[in-house]
Amino acid sequence: MSFDQFALNPRIAHGIAMAGYTSPTPIQAQAISKIMNGADLIGLAQTGTGKTAAFVLPILHKLITGPRGALRALIVAPTRELVEQIHEVIQTLGAKTGLQSTMVFGGVNIQQQIKELKTADIVVACPGRTLDHIGRKTINLSRVEMLVLDEADQMLDMGFLPDIRRIITRLPKSGYQKLLFSATMSTPIRKLADAILQNPLKVQVDTIAPAQTVSHAFYPVSQQLKTQLLLALLKNTPRETILVFTRTKHRARQLGEKLAKAGYLSTSLQGNLSQARRRAAMSGFKSGKYQVLVATDIAARGIDIADVSHVINYDMPSTPEAYIHRIGRTGRAERSGTAFTLITSEDKQMVTAINRTIGNPVQQCTVEGFNYRIPAPAAGSKKNIRHHAR
Ligand code: AMP
Repeated sequence: MSFDQFALNPRIAHGIAMAGYTSPTPIQAQAISKIMNGADLIGLAQTGTGKTAAFVLPILHKLITGPRGALRALIVAPTRELVEQIHEVIQTLGAKTGLQSTMVFGGVNIQQQIKELKTADIVVACPGRTLDHIGRKTINLSRVEMLVLDEADQMLDMGFLPDIRRIITRLPKSGYQKLLFSATMSTPIRKLADAILQNPLKVQVDTIAPAQTVSHAFYPVSQQLKTQLLLALLKNTPRETILVFTRTKHRARQLGEKLAKAGYLSTSLQGNLSQARRRAAMSGFKSGKYQVLVATDIAARGIDIADVSHVINYDMPSTPEAYIHRIGRTGRAERSGTAFTLITSEDKQMVTAINRTIGNPVQQCTVEGFNYRIPAPAAGSKKNIRHHAR
C-alpha cells in the first residue's frame, strides 16, 4: 500500500517524502480516507502507531484550500511534550503547504502565543492554556473546521474533562469535523465520544505487544563500531539462523558483503535485487545455505521464515510498531527467539518510544570482552559502512 492512493495534495506528498515515510502504517491506512471524506472518527491507537500523521495529513489536505490566517484546525493534547511532537509532525509534513501551526501550553510567556494566534491556521494546544486564551479573548475558535482530541484517555485521567467541555462550547455549534484518539475505550471515553461526535466511524489498531517467546535487548554502541559489535554478537551465536535488519538497501548490500568477507554464510535481501536473486536469497536462507540474511524492512515484509532464531537490528527501525514487527520474526510458533538491537546516541527518541509502547524498559546490555574504545576506522575507509543521514 502506498500514500498515493489517498490522492493527497502534491505539496503534502513532498512532506511525506521529507519525513521518510514510504507506506502508511495500519492506523493511517484505515483512518486517512475516512477523515478526508469528512467523517467524525474515533481512533483507538497508541503512540508509536503513526496516529499523529493519520490525522495531520487529512488536516493539511483540507486546509490547503480555503482561507488563510484563521484558526481552522484545533488539536488538543494533554501534555506540552505531546503538543511539541504533534507540532513537529505538522511542520515536517506541512513544510510546503504554507500553513502556519502554533503551540499553546502553559509555563511559558503568553505574549508570543498571543501574537502567533492572530495568524495561525492550526493550533496544537493543552486544555488549560487554551482556556486562558479564551478568557483573554486572544483565541478565536469560531472558524474551526476540525477538532482533534488526542490521547483523550490521558486527558480524562488528568482531569481535563471540564476544560474540554468548556473549550467545545466556544467552537461553532455544528458543521465541524471531530476526531478523538485514545489508546483505550473506557466508559468515560465512550461517554465523551457519544456527547461530542456525530455518527463516528471507528478505527482500531490492535494493541501492539511483543510475543512472550521473544527475549530482546538493546546494545548501546557508537555508530562507527556497529559492524565490529555485530561481528562480536555473531561470534557468540554460532550455528543459528540470523536475520539482520538495516535501514537502507545500500547498507543491507554492503553489510551482507562484509559479513561474507568475514567468513559468514551470508546474503542480503533488498529492493534493488532482481526477482530471481531475491528468490535465491530467500530459499538459500530457508534451506540453511545461508546462516545470515541482511534485509531491509520492505524487502522482508510478508516473508514468512519460520526458523529464525535471532533478529539483529543493525539499525533502529523508524517506529515502535516496526520494532515489534521485526522482533516478531523470531520466536514464532512457540519457539523461543532472541532479538538484539544496536542503539546509538541518535536513537534516544526511538528507545524512549519503544519503552513506552512496550510498557517497561528494554534491557540494555554490553558484549563481554568487546573493546568499546577501539578507535573508529578512518573516515572513507572501505571497512566502514557509510552512515546515511536520517
Ligand atoms: P506516532 O504514533 O504518531 O507518535 O508516531 C510514531 C513514530 O512513527 C514517529 O516517529 C513517526 O515519525 C513515525 N511514523 C509515522 N508514520 C509513519 C510511516 N508511515 N512510516 C514510517 N514511520 C512513520
